[in-house]
Amino acid sequence: MQVNKMNHPNQGIKCVVNTCHYYMNGDYCAAERIEVQPRNASDSQETDCATFIPEGR
Ligand code: SF4
Repeated sequence: MQVNKMNHPNQGIKCVVNTCHYYMNGDYCAAERIEVQPRNASDSQETDCATFIPEGR
């Protein structure tokens, strides 16, 4: 899911994935919105951000 990268943090999201295109210094995410998967996960370890794309793409 490719979404717009804003020029400011999405205040509702803390993210430490500093290899993501949407990552911002201070552990912020600048994606307009994110999608988390999968359905029917049983704990947080099973979930991941489907909006992630590697930095530099
Ligand atoms: S898109 Fe997902 S992985 Fe990337 S910075 Fe935002 S929350 Fe983190």
